[in-house]
Amino acid sequence: MSPEFESVIGLEVHAQLLTKTKAFCGCSTSFGARPNTNVCPVCLGLPGSLPVLNREAVRLAVRIGLALGCTIQEKSIFARKNYFYPDLPKGYQISQYDAPLCTEGHLDIAAPGAEPRKVGIVRVHMEEDAGKNVHGMGGDSIVDLNRAGTPLVEIVGAPDLRSSAEAAEYLRRLREILMVLGVNDGNLEEGSFRCDANVSIRPEGTSALGTRCEIKNVNSFRFVERAIDFEVRRQIALVSAGKSVEQETLRWDEASGKTYPLRSKEEAHDYRYFPEPDLPPLLVERSFISEQQSSLEELPAARRGRFVAELGLTPYAASVLTGHPRIADFFEGVARLAGDPVKAANFIQTEVLRDVTLAGLQATFPVTSEQLAELLQLAAEKTISGKQAKDVYAKIVGTSKSPRDVVAESGLAQLSDAVELEAICRRVVESNPKQAAGYRGGKTALLGFFVGQVMKETRGSANPALVNEILVRLLAHS
Ligand SMILES: [Zn+2]
Repeated sequence: MSPEFESVIGLEVHAQLLTKTKAFCGCSTSFGARPNTNVCPVCLGLPGSLPVLNREAVRLAVRIGLALGCTIQEKSIFARKNYFYPDLPKGYQISQYDAPLCTEGHLDIAAPGAEPRKVGIVRVHMEEDAGKNVHGMGGDSIVDLNRAGTPLVEIVGAPDLRSSAEAAEYLRRLREILMVLGVNDGNLEEGSFRCDANVSIRPEGTSALGTRCEIKNVNSFRFVERAIDFEVRRQIALVSAGKSVEQETLRWDEASGKTYPLRSKEEAHDYRYFPEPDLPPLLVERSFISEQQSSLEELPAARRGRFVAELGLTPYAASVLTGHPRIADFFEGVARLAGDPVKAANFIQTEVLRDVTLAGLQATFPVTSEQLAELLQLAAEKTISGKQAKDVYAKIVGTSKSPRDVVAESGLAQLSDAVELEAICRRVVESNPKQAAGYRGGKTALLGFFVGQVMKETRGSANPALVNEILVRLLAHS
């Protein structure tokens, strides 16, 4: 980034709401159905059909607004956004324009190496999705209208972001909030969470906004960062060469690492917005809003804070374990049952996470929280050593076996018999006279060598605290 310019970035996110049926008809929103099977006269835009607003979609949109600290408008208006596109059967999209449902909120971000900041949310409005053009189906191109009419929110962020890293952080935090609310599955590949980035540059220290370009539908956070970086460099090069930036809509091509023009950017007046005559104004009662506010889920930032302040986790562990709402739930379940949150957090991070499969809002765990809690208890009561806990874990993965049964069956149990351990320790010290002399000569770090030898002898089953104690005593006198 050239020092004379700063980049100004605002993101618009389209998020599909997880309702069972579409925004204005009763058709199913399930993904992956045969093309054009989840359609009806309303979402096909047939003459004479009338839309009926989905109450659940409003509820989810209100919860998003509340989570982002927005004001929920008791009266908002649906509008027609007119444009022609093959996947838009009505010739317009029902959206909200000058009277959106949610206004003026914010999102807290903390990009790596930058100060934590509040980023403005201009508005959150409701709208419906278009269908999809599918190319190459048996050599043909088809229009699949299964997605047409699916409820969306558009979350419009203020142009407060100053780097691609901040943009990626904003998206991660926003996606995390929507997933915790359970209103969106955060799936970028299937397009249920889509991002457009408005990018402009301006001379450092000025406040007027430069001409912006909009990069459409980038489907990974890493690509968003790369697309913004490319676009900022492109605009700086243009301006530095005495040319001006044209307002355009661009697409990002990951293969070439470049943005390409799609079309010249349209202005709001190109869409001839007008109030949707088939829908009355949307009225949301105060009592409904406060009901949603009081039943709002604990948000990720608050959960991270609680994991640190109340459960004693490091900020890093708290952020790893809140990376997905189901992982956070799993951790809390284990911590509650096992009674030691820090040990639970460590074991989950080092052993369990690599075996967890995530799919949207769902997560599949290799063991249940009950199994893991029992395992951690066996270690805490010193029936098995830390090393043995890992072995037992490997044996219960993917099964419904009880760790206690596995320990009993395999004859595993921590060696805590002081007499037996002392005999082993003595043997180890006697067969390594050189190291013993070294230790007694002041090289106390050699204690680790002896502990290692005892562990090897006992195949990791010795109680390490007891071994330490015995060895220190044996090595104290020759
Ligand atoms: Zn329909």
